[in-house]
Amino acid sequence: MHNSLVAALDIGGTKIAGALVDGNGAILHRAQRPTPAHDDGETVMRAVENVLAELAASPLWVRATALGIGSAGPVDASAGTVSPVNVPGWRGFPLVERVSHAIGRHLPITLVGDGVAMTAAEHWQGAARGYDNALCMVVSTGVGGGLVLGGKPHAGPTGNAGHIGHISVDLDGDLCPCGGRGCVERIASGPNIARRALENGWRPGPGGDTSAAAVAEAARAGDPVATASYERAAQALAAGIAATATLVEIEIAVVGGGVAGAGDVLFGPLRRALRDYATLSFVQRLTVAPAVTGTDAGLVGAAAAATLGQGEAAVPAGRG
Ligand SMILES: [Zn+2]
Repeated sequence: MHNSLVAALDIGGTKIAGALVDGNGAILHRAQRPTPAHDDGETVMRAVENVLAELAASPLWVRATALGIGSAGPVDASAGTVSPVNVPGWRGFPLVERVSHAIGRHLPITLVGDGVAMTAAEHWQGAARGYDNALCMVVSTGVGGGLVLGGKPHAGPTGNAGHIGHISVDLDGDLCPCGGRGCVERIASGPNIARRALENGWRPGPGGDTSAAAVAEAARAGDPVATASYERAAQALAAGIAATATLVEIEIAVVGGGVAGAGDVLFGPLRRALRDYATLSFVQRLTVAPAVTGTDAGLVGAAAAATLGQGEAAVPAGRG
């Protein structure tokens, strides 16, 4: 019997979500606030405190035995600080200390990056379940990811391991906002898929929607420029996935996020491009699958990370 719960926070550039999660990954209580991303750091922290207060008002709160935080990165789990790119008011912000103070009771707190959280969720409940070695990716406004190695999510010393979006797959490619060049994200993120299509002559429909989803719709209708933009994104993802597989022998790559919503428009060329890049015998069995945990992946993954953080005895029911 698992009667204890885990509290989870999912902190992103648009929303701050909180939940009480049971040992099967079910969300029993939730709270949410928009992220005042362009305000000062204290205002952002007040939104986190409001979410925590709402969780603490639940009669279930007393059953929480740990708290997991998944945050937009970069994070520094070893220092307990976060510096989310999309939240300029937080640079080296001592989130773990502030959350610990805000909850007013002792709970062990585990901080991981959002890519690691999503990976923990997919390994616990999603497409990577049952795999001991996996790469999970979120392809949306940015490209993030995380690793499962030897049967466990591998966060790395600062909680950022598996950040595949900023691996270079084009040595002389375009400058990336991270300072690098030719990064996977610079080629495969939703905004870059849309930008490339527009630059090459694709025009949106009468509604004027220039999102990556609109480009996917055009690709499905046979537009060659829209199709080519997704093929280029798929090629970058395939090169990054193949490099990861060659380095650490992953068995599956799970791809989620808004861009994965393009379905076969992305996964078709992605599987084809993988055959070009994943060539050595030990990576040829690599499979690619869409993520299944959806919008709650951050919360469920933060809960999983917190549970794992407590050690082997508390591994969530139903894993691997
Ligand atoms: Zn980069």
